Amino acid sequence: EAKEAGPGLVRSFEPVMLYARQLRREMASDLRNAVERNEFRLAYQPVVDLVTGQMHGVEVLLRWEHPTQGLTMPDSFIPLAEASGAIVGIGRWVLRTALEQLSAWRADGQDKEGFHIRVNVSASELQSMDLVDYVRGVLRDTGTEPQDLVLEITESALVGSGDVETYSMQALKALGIRLEIDDFGTGYSSISYLRRLPVHAVKVDRELIAEISRDKGQLHFVDAVHRLIQAAGLEAVFEGVETAQQAAMLQEMGCCHGQGYYFSRPLTAGQTGALLASGDRLPLAPEPLV
Ligand code: C2E
Ligand code: MG
Ligand code: MG
Ligand code: MG
Repeated sequence: EAKEAGPGLVRSFEPVMLYARQLRREMASDLRNAVERNEFRLAYQPVVDLVTGQMHGVEVLLRWEHPTQGLTMPDSFIPLAEASGAIVGIGRWVLRTALEQLSAWRADGQDKEGFHIRVNVSASELQSMDLVDYVRGVLRDTGTEPQDLVLEITESALVGSGDVETYSMQALKALGIRLEIDDFGTGYSSISYLRRLPVHAVKVDRELIAEISRDKGQLHFVDAVHRLIQAAGLEAVFEGVETAQQAAMLQEMGCCHGQGYYFSRPLTAGQTGALLASGDRLPLAPEPLV
């Protein structure tokens, strides 16, 4: 009896696997054409100075308007784009579009002194030898400055990073671009990276602060992580700030920068420009502290 159930299971499982594989193949080929079909959009999420409440910069977040599946979020296509190699072309489109946007805000007199644009970069982009030349070219074409740009590199991308990645990072730094470790504290990297890599800031993963208003131990732990980052001579940015309590606790610790739904959701370019021009503090409608 059991013997019959076995092969039966396999028979019904196989079509599902094949279907999943076919979907992946289709998505991979859709991804290869998405740039030229103009299906990508950028969203901009404010990074806030916790002391002044002013927008210190924005993180650029990719969105895909898939012709049949509609708005598609990066977690469901970035890994595939990385695996297929399409990420290199996509990443270049992101970088160029983001810096063109910065230049447009500037031309409208909307941006402020010291405003940064943060762009996410995958490991495979760091491995492409001509990334540095490409970045230099886009800065020149858009009339933007290296110090306007921060490249966020996820912690997991840095695990096992070799000579090429280190070379790219050194060369980008030499250009005057700032590098930041993203999603710090959840991957498998060693804390010695904080001193070894040519980065100027660390973005702490939202998982670390999720429970700080309920869990005293976690609050002390995050405080220690913050001091560790400072001891390494780096700036700290806390992502995933969702409540007024979290913002207040980070401020109490002396943290300088935060990002999250509490301050603002990711915005369109138009909304970001308007916010920049207004000089308004964030959050726009603060929740009462309880
Ligand atoms: P990330 O770089 O860590 O970006 C932060 C993610 O957290 C974004 O998700 C953002 O919308 C979300 N987020 C912001 N504030 C909050 C909050 O308060 N609570 C919660 N729960 N989430 C918050 P998103 O836009 O879905 O992007 C996911 C990831 O995809 C990014 O994580 C980044 O690793 C990757 N990604 C996004 N755009 C690009 C890109 O242009 N290139 C590359 N290579 N990766 C990208
Ligand atoms: Mg990021
Ligand atoms: Mg992050
Ligand atoms: Mg993340």
